[in-house]
Amino acid sequence: MDTPPRLTPEQEEKMIQDAFDELLDGYLRSNHRKKVEIIERAFLFAKDAHKGVRRRSGEPYIMHPIAVARIASREIGLGSTSICAALLHDVVEDTDYTVEDIEQHFGPKIAQIVDGLTKISGGIFGDKASVQAENFRKLLLTMSEDIRVVLIKMADRLHNMRTLGSMAPNKRYKIAGETLYIYAPLAHRLGLFAIKTELEDLSFKHEHPDIYRDIQAKIQESEARRSAVYSDFSEPIKTKLDQLGIEYDAKARLKSIYSIWRKMETKHLPFEEVYDLYAMRIIFKCDDQAKEKAICWSIYSAITDLYQLHPGRTRDWIVTPKANGYQALHLTVMGPDGNWIEVQIRSERMDEIAEKGFAAHWKYKIGDGDEESELNAWLKTIKDILDNPEPNAMDFLSTLKLNLFATEIVVFTPSGELVTLPSGATVLDLAFELHSEIGMHSIAGKVNHKLVPLQTELKSGDQVEVLTSKTQVALPEWENFMVTAKARTRLRKGLRAMRQPVVVKGGEMLSTWLIDNDLPDNNKVITKLQGIFHVANRDDLCYALGADEIVLGDFLLKPLRKAAGIEEKGILSKLITIGKKVVPGTAKSAPAAPDPVNPKKIYKLRSDAEGTNFRISDCCNPIPGDDVMGFISDDGSVEIHRLDCPEAQILKATYGSRIVATEWDTDGEQRFLAHIHIEGLDRHGILQEITHLISTHLGIDMRKLEIEASDKVFHADLWVRVSDADVVNDLCARTKSIQGVTLATRIH
Ligand code: MN
Repeated sequence: MDTPPRLTPEQEEKMIQDAFDELLDGYLRSNHRKKVEIIERAFLFAKDAHKGVRRRSGEPYIMHPIAVARIASREIGLGSTSICAALLHDVVEDTDYTVEDIEQHFGPKIAQIVDGLTKISGGIFGDKASVQAENFRKLLLTMSEDIRVVLIKMADRLHNMRTLGSMAPNKRYKIAGETLYIYAPLAHRLGLFAIKTELEDLSFKHEHPDIYRDIQAKIQESEARRSAVYSDFSEPIKTKLDQLGIEYDAKARLKSIYSIWRKMETKHLPFEEVYDLYAMRIIFKCDDQAKEKAICWSIYSAITDLYQLHPGRTRDWIVTPKANGYQALHLTVMGPDGNWIEVQIRSERMDEIAEKGFAAHWKYKIGDGDEESELNAWLKTIKDILDNPEPNAMDFLSTLKLNLFATEIVVFTPSGELVTLPSGATVLDLAFELHSEIGMHSIAGKVNHKLVPLQTELKSGDQVEVLTSKTQVALPEWENFMVTAKARTRLRKGLRAMRQPVVVKGGEMLSTWLIDNDLPDNNKVITKLQGIFHVANRDDLCYALGADEIVLGDFLLKPLRKAAGIEEKGILSKLITIGKKVVPGTAKSAPAAPDPVNPKKIYKLRSDAEGTNFRISDCCNPIPGDDVMGFISDDGSVEIHRLDCPEAQILKATYGSRIVATEWDTDGEQRFLAHIHIEGLDRHGILQEITHLISTHLGIDMRKLEIEASDKVFHADLWVRVSDADVVNDLCARTKSIQGVTLATRIH
């Protein structure tokens, strides 16, 4: 990090003024009404309020609200109310001014948004999972009241991510993790695709700086060849569109670094194969919305006259837009070099919606526009979940997250009604989506007139009917076949309602028994009972009692009295005669407690002849050389995860303060287990060549080898003990150079 040279007060003043003028210029060029006066006042107010305060990077604090307002205006397309709220967003949080002050100066609307932003400040996540869930609920609640709160919060997060470099490493991981876990999916759900992509890229850049630079360099290297292929492909199309008299803008679509990497990782492909997928985007001018569809299809027809169409890969998002508002026509054709190329066709209006999401809808609002109701439907789902929050904070988060990430399918009811569901949704999801009562009594589904079980996954375009029966009783296990939060929430609520009379009956039985046996009804006693009967909480205990699944008897008295602290005479005297103080756990020599870890410092991962000072998580099996982070577990030891491990994503997002930045410091004597997957064309002697290469040539310790050969193809899974990631990479590269091997990659 190079620190910027210190500016004189005059230079600084000019820098601030320039930044503000730029913001104002952008606003004046937008389609919004020109309410400059209030924006200027908000700027002066915020500037004065933050006077003398600096950001971590050293620049005056006011530069941050200006930048946030600029993102809100230019990149999200918001108007003067939001610009003012963005300029003022940290005033209540960081200075002595109150929401009432803001209301007095700027009116109730701006004050309300600033209030919403203040409530959810300090990151969505605090230190405890329950607090985090609570904050997240607040965020979503304020969002369902005024979506602008969340849009400005997005702008705030984007600017913080752009300037993340000046933060301490452990804070960086926390913020980057949180961004990837919650904000990027939220941006996606709101249709803010450009922001979503940038958030992902920035998170990735901070978590894997080396890989990021590597991919960046490779993109630059292949630039010339790519643009040659693109112009070969696009020139004939352009000529044709010009003949048709269509006004348009065509460009090669660039894949983001993060999405390239994701594809390389999930499909185990080398960079070249991922990046050789080209895409073109055509954005046409059209003032009459009624003509858009026809123009899209005439462009489609022009392209398919020139190139061979990939059947089954045409996507019409015009007639049924995605739930986040996305509209376009996609098709895939065979390019001149034999590669498949995707072409996206959109009008300028559709493009703006694709880039700026729902904010852009306001600009094109027409009467009681359909698109707005889509957003409202989603916000209603969120409210629905919030009305019935899960008792378990982590469950609540992952339920919501699932809904943020899901891509959609559209199915039809027998009456022809369209229902949008996340992909992977089953008949049960639909049943509960339609109505709790239908869900609770569903027995089977009819998909395209064929009888299917409830857990059947639905596909876009399916016509689905849910069959019900009065005598059917819903089961808790159904949850395993549901993907929507709404369905799960409704099922749990329904089950709770069904159980309630039994729980009440069991509760009365429990109280009577406790009184009869002189036992207190306190936490200690109930916890002990829960432990004995293996139930999770008091309700479950009462339910089991009420349903006669368990019985209370004299055998419980001894452990319960002990738990309640009512000692029995005999035992006490026995202990005294032995004359020893009994401390549990001293019998076996417990490992010495590790020194407390300071999360502010980089933790050196030591591994030498004496052992290791960290534990390897078994979810992602990192080895030295991988980009990893440490998580300080309950016993104080450091557990390491790969930065991109799904488990680590959750840890980063929920236990930010327990994340520690790490550095490998091993002497190479320690060995770690790595799993390698190899695929190829079976030919005589190829497996001998591979095993020979591994065991003799490279001197690697092979632990296990599983081979499966069928027809002409073989798959091999290999476990080796190595000192670090470089050895594995080298091994994969060498294996791949064996003739016939098509794939050799490490599996995490
Ligand atoms: Mn801020």
